[in-house]
Amino acid sequence: MDKKPRVRFAPSPTGGLHIGGVRTVLYNYLFAKKHGGDFVLRIEDTDQTRFVEGAETYIYQCLDWCGLKPDESPLLGGPYGPYRQSERKPIYRKYAEQLVADGKAYYAFDTSTELEAKRKEISNFQYSQSTRSAMKNSLTLGEPETKKMLSENVPHVIRIKMPPEEEIKFTDMIRGEVTFNSTLVDDKVLLKADGMPTYHLAVVVDDFLMKITHAFRGEEWLPSAPVHVLLWRYLFGEENMPQWAHLPLILKPDGNGKLSKRDGDRLGFPVFAMDWKDPKTNELTTGFKERGFLPEAFINMLAVLGWNDGSEQELFTLDELTEKFSMERVHKGGAKFNYEKAKWFNHEWIKRSAVDDYKSMVKEMFSEKNIIITDEEKLKRVLELVKDRCTLLPDFVQQSSFFFQTPENIDLSPIKPKWDDKKNQFFIELIRTYELTNQWQAEALENEFKEIAAASQIKPGDVLLPFRIMLVGGKFGPGVFDIAAILGKEETIHRIKQALGSINQ
Ligand code: GLU
Repeated sequence: MDKKPRVRFAPSPTGGLHIGGVRTVLYNYLFAKKHGGDFVLRIEDTDQTRFVEGAETYIYQCLDWCGLKPDESPLLGGPYGPYRQSERKPIYRKYAEQLVADGKAYYAFDTSTELEAKRKEISNFQYSQSTRSAMKNSLTLGEPETKKMLSENVPHVIRIKMPPEEEIKFTDMIRGEVTFNSTLVDDKVLLKADGMPTYHLAVVVDDFLMKITHAFRGEEWLPSAPVHVLLWRYLFGEENMPQWAHLPLILKPDGNGKLSKRDGDRLGFPVFAMDWKDPKTNELTTGFKERGFLPEAFINMLAVLGWNDGSEQELFTLDELTEKFSMERVHKGGAKFNYEKAKWFNHEWIKRSAVDDYKSMVKEMFSEKNIIITDEEKLKRVLELVKDRCTLLPDFVQQSSFFFQTPENIDLSPIKPKWDDKKNQFFIELIRTYELTNQWQAEALENEFKEIAAASQIKPGDVLLPFRIMLVGGKFGPGVFDIAAILGKEETIHRIKQALGSINQ
C-alpha cells in the first residue's frame, strides 16, 4: 500500500448496534491497523427526524467494550473534525449548489402533498429521468421562475440529475467489477429542505474532506453506489474515490434473508452488541455483553463470520486478526448466524482467558443475586475451578454459588432410597476424621475419604455422590474434594452434618 489507509465507520445513531454493524467496524479496524493506518468514527446524524436520545453514547460504549478504539471521533477530535455530520451542516450546501451550477443537479420544489399525490397516481413512483419533466423543479420551471422562488425562500431540495443510459462502474474489493445502468437509478435528494445534506451527499463530501482511502460498508449500500460514483466524478474526480468493499450480510440461521432483531427475539438470542433500551417505548433488547459474552469471543466470532485466514484456525486474538486479516479473503456470499457456534467461541475464550479478565463481571452478577463476595482470593480459586464448565458468564453463578452460600434446597432424592446404616456410619467417621485433620487440601481429603471407605468396606463410588449432594445441593459441580478444599473445614463439616440430619429425620 503506497499510503497509509484511512478508513471510517459511519453509523447513523438510531438504535441498538446490530452485529452486522460491529463486524463492519471490525473489518475497518483490522484493515487500518494491519496497514498502520487510521480508523475514523464519524457520526452520520443528518436525519433529524430519526434522532434517538442516547444512541450516540451507546455506539461509543459498544466500541469501547469491543476494544475497537477509533483514532479520530467526535469525542477524541482529530485533524478533520468535526466528526458529527450535524455540526458540519454549513459545509455541504456549496457542493450541492456547485452541482446545480454544473448542470448535474437541480432544485425541486414539489411539496410533500404533491409528491404524495404522484405516489397515489403512479404505483412505484420514482423521481427520476422518466418522471422529472412532469414535476415542479428548476428543469421544468425555467431560470427566471426558479430564481424568483429561491429569492422568496420557497422550500426546496436539491436532487442529482441522473444521466440517461450510462454504464456506471467501479471495482469493489470483494465483488470485483460492479456495473449499474444509470437510467434505473432515481434522482436522489442531495440537500434537504432543512439545509441538511442527505446521506448520499454527506458521505461523499466527508469521505473526501476526511481523506478516506477505503470505505467498507454493508451490502445494503450497494444500490446507492452509482450515485456516489457520480458525485465523486462530478465533485472530486473519480480517481480520488476511496476503494470500496461492500460487506456481505449476516443471514438468519436458516439462511433466509438478513438477520434482524426480530429473529433474535423470536429465536432467543441477542443481535445487538450491548443492551439497548429504546427511549421511546422503553423496550429493552438484550445484548451479547449482558448475555455473558466476553468481548474477545464476540469479536473473534464476528471476524470469522464471513472471513477466514485460509487455514482451519478458528480462535484468534485481536492482534492475530490484525496480522492475518485481508479483504480478499472476505466471502462474497452472506454468512449464516449460528448462536450455538457463537456460544462455543465464548466457552473457548472463557477457558483461555485469565480469570482476572472477567472476575469483576462475575462478581457483579453474583451481587445481582444478592451474593456479596468479599474474599477475592476465594472467588479467583472458584472461578479457576469451574471455568471449563461455563459457556456464558452467568453460568459461573449457577455453577458456583454454593461456594458462597449454603445451598437452601438439598436434593436428597437421588441418595435417600439407597441410604443405609453403613453409609451413615461412613459419614460419621468422615466428620470425625476431617475434624482432626490439619491438612485441608483436596488430595489429603480424598485419601482420608478412601481410607475410611476401605475400613468400612464400602465402595468410594457409593459415597461420592452423597458427599457431592451434601456439599453442592445437587448432582453438579467440579471435583468434590476440590470443592471441599475451597469450602474449608468448618463449612464442609457443617454441610455434612446438616445433610445427615435431614436424611435421618
Ligand atoms: N450512515 C450509514 C449507515 O448508517 C453509513 C454507510 C456507509 O458506511 O457509507 O450505515
